[in-house]
Amino acid sequence: MQLDEKTAGFITRFAPSPTGLLHMGHAFSALVAFTRAQAAGGRFLLRIEDIDQGRCRPEFTDAIYRDLAWLGLSWSAPVRVQSEHFTDYQAALQALKELGVVYPCFCTRKDIQQEIKRAPSAPHGPDGAVYPGICRGADKRAANARIEAGEAHAWRLNLDVALEITERNLTWHDELSGRVKVEPETLGDVVLARKDTPTSYHLSVVCDDTLQGVTHVIRGEDLFHATHIHVVLQQLLGLPTPRYHHHKLLTDSDGRRFAKRDKSITLAQLRADGANPEALVKSLLDQIDA
Ligand code: GLU
Repeated sequence: MQLDEKTAGFITRFAPSPTGLLHMGHAFSALVAFTRAQAAGGRFLLRIEDIDQGRCRPEFTDAIYRDLAWLGLSWSAPVRVQSEHFTDYQAALQALKELGVVYPCFCTRKDIQQEIKRAPSAPHGPDGAVYPGICRGADKRAANARIEAGEAHAWRLNLDVALEITERNLTWHDELSGRVKVEPETLGDVVLARKDTPTSYHLSVVCDDTLQGVTHVIRGEDLFHATHIHVVLQQLLGLPTPRYHHHKLLTDSDGRRFAKRDKSITLAQLRADGANPEALVKSLLDQIDA
């Protein structure tokens, strides 16, 4: 089910992870979504993607609110904080278990690397080597016994089984690329619930876009490939597929993408250095159409 733009209105979101301070690339992404929502007379929402409790820090969440407000952005309440909604993701995972499209995976990173080394022609996708399926065909009873014994495990999507259930010839709409054919094979059996946290980026983003009523997902083109998996998950879970807009990534004067490790160009630093937010926003807006 693809959302109908005319009847669903326009709701978009900015969904940063508080694993570091926001930089110019984040400001650009937030502004693309904010200005699109304004132009459409729609709503701009904020979501804090903090499922990774080991890497996320409350001071980075506070900084997100401060930095966005400094840029002059405002968002509709409530902010959705993912760590407050693990039960929603558990319910979605349970539904996928009942469909038989997930399996427990006990592999360590080392197990996976060794298996890939053994099969040098193992397929690689945009996120690196595709999981070689070590646990895919495991005996269910033996796997359950390992779970009951408390062995750490992730849950992976069984993509082959999933694609047998979903509609044939799935597509999604991207504002810049038009109609895109769903081709999730380059991502393979992605993790839907991690060993260290009972969900994953893919699972929670799909749940939250629906739960927040998002009609237009606006995010950087580095996440374009993830959308193939998201549409498959929406199909499996009976969720609507929003429209997508994967914008170009902002680069610095050397043509390099902004990254969290480049501490010098965080918004917090610019603010501390007395930068003028209006001038900054204007220069970013000029690049949206450039
Ligand atoms: N939390 C993701 C990030 O910071 C963005 C997720 C999304 O927009 O779908 O890269």
